[in-house]
Amino acid sequence: MSESCSALSSNVRHHFFIDGDWVSSHSDQRHTIVSPSTETPFMTVPLADATDVERAVAAARRAFDQGPWPRLSGTERATYLKRLTHELRQRLPLLAQLWTDQVGAPISFAQKLTPFGASRFEFFASLAEQYEFEDWRSTQRGRACVRRVPVGVAALIAPWNATFPIVSQKIAAALAAGCTMVVKSPPECPFDALIIAECAAAAGIPPGVLNVITAGREAGAQLVQSREIDKISFTGSVATGQWIQRAATDRLARATLELGGKSAAILLDDVDLPAALAALTPFTMPFSGQICFAQTRLLVPRHRHDEIVATYAQIVAGMKVGDPHAPDTAIGPVLNAAQRERVRGYIERGIAEGATLVTGGTGNAGFERGFYVEPTVFSRVTSTMTIAREEIFGPVVSILPYGSVDQAIEIANDSDYGLSGSVYGRDEERAFEIACRLRTGNVGINGVEIAPNVPFGGMKRSGIGREGGREGLEAYLETQAVFVPGAA
Ligand code: NAD
Repeated sequence: MSESCSALSSNVRHHFFIDGDWVSSHSDQRHTIVSPSTETPFMTVPLADATDVERAVAAARRAFDQGPWPRLSGTERATYLKRLTHELRQRLPLLAQLWTDQVGAPISFAQKLTPFGASRFEFFASLAEQYEFEDWRSTQRGRACVRRVPVGVAALIAPWNATFPIVSQKIAAALAAGCTMVVKSPPECPFDALIIAECAAAAGIPPGVLNVITAGREAGAQLVQSREIDKISFTGSVATGQWIQRAATDRLARATLELGGKSAAILLDDVDLPAALAALTPFTMPFSGQICFAQTRLLVPRHRHDEIVATYAQIVAGMKVGDPHAPDTAIGPVLNAAQRERVRGYIERGIAEGATLVTGGTGNAGFERGFYVEPTVFSRVTSTMTIAREEIFGPVVSILPYGSVDQAIEIANDSDYGLSGSVYGRDEERAFEIACRLRTGNVGINGVEIAPNVPFGGMKRSGIGREGGREGLEAYLETQAVFVPGAA
C-alpha cells in the first residue's frame, strides 16, 4: 500500500457514503488499482452493484423530496459549503499525493492543480450567497415570482484523469443549487469523491444530500437509467457521452456533457516565440497529454515552421521523464498498458501517414517498468492525418504549418471537437479577433487558463452545456413561474 493510501481513513478505503453513513458494498466485486509507474497492484477497492446504486439513489431522492437541503436559502447553503472548503483545504496535500499514486500524474502538476478543486467550492459558496434565486415581474393580472429552483437529484460521473477538480466542480455547483446527488467515482481513482464526502459530513451537510459510490460501466449505466435521476452531469469520452445523452433523452432527463478535445494553439507571425512557448508548452502535454484541454495541435506560420519545430522539440526533448513522485518530473507514465498501446498505435499511424517524427516515438523512454511513452512531436502534419483529427490522450503533439491567418482559423476549426484553443501574438487585439473566430468553448490569448467564475465546456463533439461560473450553477436549476393576482 502506498503512503497516501495508508493516510486514508478506514471509511474512505473500504466503504461508500450513502445517506450520511459509511456503508459496505452490497457486492463482493473489487477493483485492483495498479501503479502506473511500477505496474504493481497496490490496493483493491469495492465496486457498487445495482443494489448499491438503488440505495444511493433512494437516499438522494428522499433528501430531495423530504429533506431540508433544497429548501434552504442560498446563504444557508453557502455556510455549509464554506465549512466543507475549510475541511478540504486541510486534505489537499493528501489529494495531490493520491492523484500521483492512483493514476500517475506528476506530483508537481498534482500539487499545482488540487487547490483548484477547493477554489470551486469557495466560488460556488460565494455565488450561492449573491445569486438571485427569484425575482418578481409584473403581469396583466398582477405579478409573477420567477423562481430558479434545484433541478432535483443529480448523477455526477467523473473520469479517472482529473477526478478531484472535475468532481469538485460538479459537487460544489450541485450543492449550491440545492440539488441532492449520487457521485459515481471511476474505479481507477476512487478516493477523491469519498474524501469530499468525509468533508461534507464534517461540515454537517444533511444525510442523503451527497452520496458517493465507486462503480464501473455497468453500475454507472444503471445510475444513468434510473427514473429517479433528474439530471446527469458527465465528464468523459465522446462514446460514453453519446450513450448517456441517448439514455437521458429517452426520459427527458437533463444532461451536461464534458467530452474530449483536439485543441489548436495558433502561433501568429508576430509571435514572441520564447514567451509563447514558455506559456504554451506546459499545456501541450500536461499529465502525459491525458487532459481534455491539452493544446495538441500547434498551428505555425509556414515560413517559421522549421524554427518553431526546432525550438519546441528541443524543449520537449529536455523534459524530465520519470517517476511521477519526483518533484522535477515533467512527464510520467500513462494510465495503463491499454492506454500505452493505444498511444503507440497513433504514433505508428502518424509515421505511416507521412508526418515527420521530430522527437520521441514508440519507445518506453528507457524504463523497464511503468507505462511510459516517450514525449513525441510530429511536424509537417496535415489536417487529414489521423493524429491531427483524433484525441490521442497521450504525450503526442502535432505541428501543422499554415499560409494565411484565414487558413490557420480554417485548420483550427476543421475538427469534430471544439473544447479549447489558444492564440499567440504580440498584437493582442488581433489575437482577440482571431480567438473569436474559433469554434471552441474556451480560447486563451498568449496562454491557457481555467477560472472558477468562467464557464468551461465544449462546442461540437466536445460536449453540451457548461460547468463553472453562473452558467455552471444554472445547469442545476429549473425555472418556475408562480402567478399571483392583484396589484403589481
Ligand atoms: P469514459 O467515458 O470511459 O469514462 C468516464 C466515466 O464514465 C467513468 O467514471 C466511467 O466509469 C463512466 N462510465 C463508462 N461507461 C458508462 C456508462 N455507460 N454509464 C455511466 N457511466 C459510465 O472516459 P475516461 O477514459 O474515463 O476519460 C477520458 C475521457 O474524458 C477523454 O476523452 C477526455 O478528453 C475526457 N475528459 C473530458 C473533460 C472535459 O471537461 N471536457 C475533462 C476530463 C476528461
